[in-house]
Amino acid sequence: MTRSARARDVLSGARWWVVPLTAVVGTATLRVFGPWRGWEPGLWAVAATTVTVLWHMSVLGRIALDSALFHEVPRWDYYAYAEVELGEVPARDRHAVMRRSRERVEEFTRIHNLVHVSLGIPAPTPHGYAEASALQAEGRRHVSIGHRWLNRGSRHLPVILEHELAHLRRRDVLRRLFRRAAGSGLAVAAAWGEPLPTAAAVCGALLIAGVAAGWWSELACDWAARRSCGSGGGRGNVARADRGRP
Ligand SMILES: [Zn+2]
Repeated sequence: MTRSARARDVLSGARWWVVPLTAVVGTATLRVFGPWRGWEPGLWAVAATTVTVLWHMSVLGRIALDSALFHEVPRWDYYAYAEVELGEVPARDRHAVMRRSRERVEEFTRIHNLVHVSLGIPAPTPHGYAEASALQAEGRRHVSIGHRWLNRGSRHLPVILEHELAHLRRRDVLRRLFRRAAGSGLAVAAAWGEPLPTAAAVCGALLIAGVAAGWWSELACDWAARRSCGSGGGRGNVARADRGRP
């Protein structure tokens, strides 16, 4: 993973520890150095943290989706028609796989009465090569499929696609947004109002609950993909492709 991709993950809260750590460090700093005591300012801090995290992550989500539409969709259109070969897969075979994928996305959009679902290919960086992720913002939805799944992993593409469409159907992007905002608010509340051991225990429990919720959504999407594609779709590859960023 490149340094910029790592920085983007940290800024967008894709790293599971970023939000609670920020909340706890911020609150601890306020308590030690600030003149504020008691629950009334504490409640304001909780509300401000929750709203700030919600706003911050939703803005970053919109930026990520705009960027994907601008950079990734044209790349998909290019490889869907261009006569260039990509790795070991002949162009004609790749065109067929990509055409079926697009038809499936159009069908998904129609069945679920959605406004917009697009497909794109991220830049072939070490981070983007094996990526498979879903984005959602303001009613728009997008699936990123890395070069790997059009190259030597092309036979896994249907199950990868179904996994990401399941994330969109379950609204996992929004769920994660609200989960992290609520978790940050609770972490601040614990760090503000409870003794350090209790606050640490609450934050630990929040982290475990967050990780468990993330894994549960991954398993649910794996099952949905398996139901759609059958058992031979390569479920292990889905887990490796998806970086826990629905
Ligand atoms: Zn996933």
